Amino acid sequence: MESPLLERTEGYIGGNWVGANASETFPVVNPATGEELARVQTMGATETREAVAAASKALRLSEPATLAERRGWLEGVRDALKAEKDEIGRILCLEHGKPLKEAVGEVDYAAGFFDYCARYIDHLDSHTIPETPKDCAWTVHYRPIGVAGLITPWNFPIGMIAKKLSAALAGGCPSVIKPAEDTPLTMIAAFRAIHDRNVLPAGMINLVMGPPKPIGDVLCEHPEVTMLSFTGSTPVGQHLVRETAGRVKKLSLELGGNAPFIIFDDADVDDAITQLIGNKFRGGGQTCVCANRVYVQSGIFETFADKLAERVEALKVGDGMEEGTDIGPLINQAGFDKVRRHVQDALAKGGTLKAGAHPDTLPESGSLFYPPTLVTGVQSEAACCQEETFGPFIPMVSFDSEDEVLAAANNTDYGLASYLFTQDETRAQRMIPAMRFGHVGWNTGTGPTPEAPFGGMKLSGIGREGGLEGLFEFVEPQTVPRSY
Ligand code: ADP
Repeated sequence: MESPLLERTEGYIGGNWVGANASETFPVVNPATGEELARVQTMGATETREAVAAASKALRLSEPATLAERRGWLEGVRDALKAEKDEIGRILCLEHGKPLKEAVGEVDYAAGFFDYCARYIDHLDSHTIPETPKDCAWTVHYRPIGVAGLITPWNFPIGMIAKKLSAALAGGCPSVIKPAEDTPLTMIAAFRAIHDRNVLPAGMINLVMGPPKPIGDVLCEHPEVTMLSFTGSTPVGQHLVRETAGRVKKLSLELGGNAPFIIFDDADVDDAITQLIGNKFRGGGQTCVCANRVYVQSGIFETFADKLAERVEALKVGDGMEEGTDIGPLINQAGFDKVRRHVQDALAKGGTLKAGAHPDTLPESGSLFYPPTLVTGVQSEAACCQEETFGPFIPMVSFDSEDEVLAAANNTDYGLASYLFTQDETRAQRMIPAMRFGHVGWNTGTGPTPEAPFGGMKLSGIGREGGLEGLFEFVEPQTVPRSY
């Protein structure tokens, strides 16, 4: 594909593009058409070590960058993304498949994290704590944690890195970034936009792309990488925990979810449906905060299902570049097959197809467009209630009591996002603290924002991104007597 931001589809180390003579490349494919968009330099352990060396050189420990300097970096990256948001969004749409408007919106969303950190960076200033006995006081400094490895998935090719990189820059930490193999072009384009504006010192950001294992192994083992921030699947997160245990590295992990979306009889049904549609079909249902299982109280179950079916049938599936598309293709065949398996299983276990196509009528291969599907009367034992589906499928489960739905919602090893629709405040006050999820959308399907800390409980992860909590992820507090 042609783009001024993709003249060089190469890695970036120490302020330079590094793959002009690359002998190995891998393809990036448009999931809507199957067309090869570009070939990207394949990097491995050697290049990752070079990237770590460049990042280590950029790490200023004895004379850390001032907060004002870091604010300048953050504002520079924010402005670079804003200035190129249409082109980066176009590239994102082509390699991911999500509708163009959503893709451009994601670039804006990403810029929002740099903006937030720039505005709140003064919270990382040193402060002094008086202590008894009198005449003793401590100053707390927030030191850069060191070189950080940032590993991101394909579902938000720029959003996910923005959450990590903004906090790393705020903390004064250089990074080595590894995007997902399916969607490296968005990141290359963002690096190009930042590079062209010269807003960061050489070595502050480095980009390596290629098979995950050799790159991941270096990031886990290298003594100069002191922190890993990862978003992706729980098995890979667990692997990183094991691989970094020997060096007790700091980890920030945002892993899988299994989001319940609960609607009580007393909810505003029309609003709940609008929120559910917006939440569930964002990114074609391929986000870790998408409702995975929808619990509707028995008194409104039928009405809710009828109204929802109508809205689901009205959604337009197509190429993200086409005007009016609501849902693009799934990212790859494995993703498509998983959704089909979950729908088949829900139907086999007694569910009723209310909207969408019967999975047995869909082609075995050749198209990644999955029709948005609604199945009612789904049983809790169905696979879609146990694991993340990651696609445009809504399974509706009926419930009677508050205790029953609370137990069902919490009956998972995951604890990322959840949603609760009720107009009864006392009920909400009872339920919310008992819901073991890092995010509870009470009467809203909105997911993470730059201002609010976001992350998971249980197998959904460690640490938070966004908010003041996220701002403190890449620093180590160091306490010294005030006289120092
Ligand atoms: P998803 O199911 O969303 O693709 P993954 O956990 O497989 O989630 O991938 C998320 C990111 O983690 C991707 O960038 C992928 O390349 C990377 N990854 C996968 N395996 C490893 C590994 N062993 N070490 C480091 N990174 C890995």
